[in-house]
Amino acid sequence: MGEIRLHSQWEAVCGRLRSEIGEAAYQSWLKPITVREMADGQVRLSVPTRFMQDWIVTHYADRLCMLWQGENPGIRSVDVVVLSDRPARAVEKPAVVAPLPTVPTARRMGSAEEAVVDIGAPLDPRFTFERFVVGKPNEFAYAAAQRVADATQVSFNPLFLYGGVGLGKTHLMHAIAWRIRQSDPTRNVIYLSAEKFMYRFIRALREQNTVDFKEQFRSVDVLMIDDVQFIAGKDSTQEEFFHTFNALVDQGRQIVLSADKSPSNLEGIEERLKSRLNCGLVADIHATTYELRLGILQSKADQLGVEVKRNVLEFLAHKITSNVRELEGALNRIVAHAQLVGRQITLETTQEVLHDLLRANDRRVTIEEIQKRVAEHFNIRISDMHSARRARSVARPRQVAMYLAKQLTTRSLPEIGRKFGGRDHTTVMHAVRKVDELRERDAGFAEDVELLRRMLEG
Ligand code: ADP
Ligand code: MG
Repeated sequence: MGEIRLHSQWEAVCGRLRSEIGEAAYQSWLKPITVREMADGQVRLSVPTRFMQDWIVTHYADRLCMLWQGENPGIRSVDVVVLSDRPARAVEKPAVVAPLPTVPTARRMGSAEEAVVDIGAPLDPRFTFERFVVGKPNEFAYAAAQRVADATQVSFNPLFLYGGVGLGKTHLMHAIAWRIRQSDPTRNVIYLSAEKFMYRFIRALREQNTVDFKEQFRSVDVLMIDDVQFIAGKDSTQEEFFHTFNALVDQGRQIVLSADKSPSNLEGIEERLKSRLNCGLVADIHATTYELRLGILQSKADQLGVEVKRNVLEFLAHKITSNVRELEGALNRIVAHAQLVGRQITLETTQEVLHDLLRANDRRVTIEEIQKRVAEHFNIRISDMHSARRARSVARPRQVAMYLAKQLTTRSLPEIGRKFGGRDHTTVMHAVRKVDELRERDAGFAEDVELLRRMLEG
């Protein structure tokens, strides 16, 4: 196909999409695109960095293809490749048509800048700042990550994020990368795991081109290495990491690292590296609180587009305290189950579906303990938990105890009923509803129940 026709089709497609997505997005994402060629119904576009490729493929590829089909019905697909020869020119002249060389892209890449495209790992499109729920345990790390992402100059170097597994370290790192990419697509942000870093380094050693390995990182503006505890004790990798790290810091490039422990507590890491790591900003992510877990669940349910009742979310937030990943997994499971069997999500189905998980997370509070504590709290006899007395002064505490038994143990309704003087499961169900209702209406009562729950959970 003639270059001129290809060129004019691109201009038309680009113009349409530009009016759809607005000027800012156009400048960031469409303008740097170079049209390469069209063959066999496939249009090939190129962009200078892997990040731009990811973004365009995720956000615009389908739309580009559709628009192009409107211009030329013979088009079947639009392919976006990374070619970083003279990115500056490509930015200025988006419609330069240059035939693709026949040699594969990877081998054509000569300069360090081109090769670096290959180093990073892809970013998870869900891991953005917008989707990160902020609470006491992570607000500092969140703020630090935002600062680094929005900074025009290097502020803290390195930013060191640490915390237990599944608490959002990787999420925050990807969020930084997405944000930087969005505000300035020409900045080269590389994210990779320490494991991958090590693997690359070992391969370079084997192939005897460690010089190339170092060169690869030269053109990186922001380097993020996840889970650096992985290189603890691996001396040669650590040495290399140290040099790369120093070189980049000296050149004023931003570095972001994560680990499961603070720099000082990392074992098997050399002292000089530790002290270098401590030089920037160290931000920890603490274990989740009940409030944060509830907030995360609510936000994830919204994202899934499903309505999950408050009591179910509260139940999950109480029960699954290990980490966010597990919490998310639990919610996904109950939502998937409900959609599959076409049933509403209730506390009962939740307990059924998550049986195994709940058992593992179970704090092993017994019904006897609950009865004892509740009786003490309301100043009644334990025997009243089993008795047939119906006076409000004993009936209400009994209902509270049943409610807590349902919330804090994995016992079924009939099992709970039996422990309360052989009552029927419908009585327990009624108690659970009643307490829920009272908690809504009476803040003092809600507080009492909450206090008891905390005491029991220890
Ligand atoms: P880590 O790297 O610390 O082990 P991840 O970043 O992989 O943890 O987080 C595990 C999962 O939990 C991810 O799906 C992530 O999106 C989610 N997650 C963690 N913290 C939050 C949060 N504060 N808000 C929303 N999602 C979160
Ligand atoms: Mg991680």
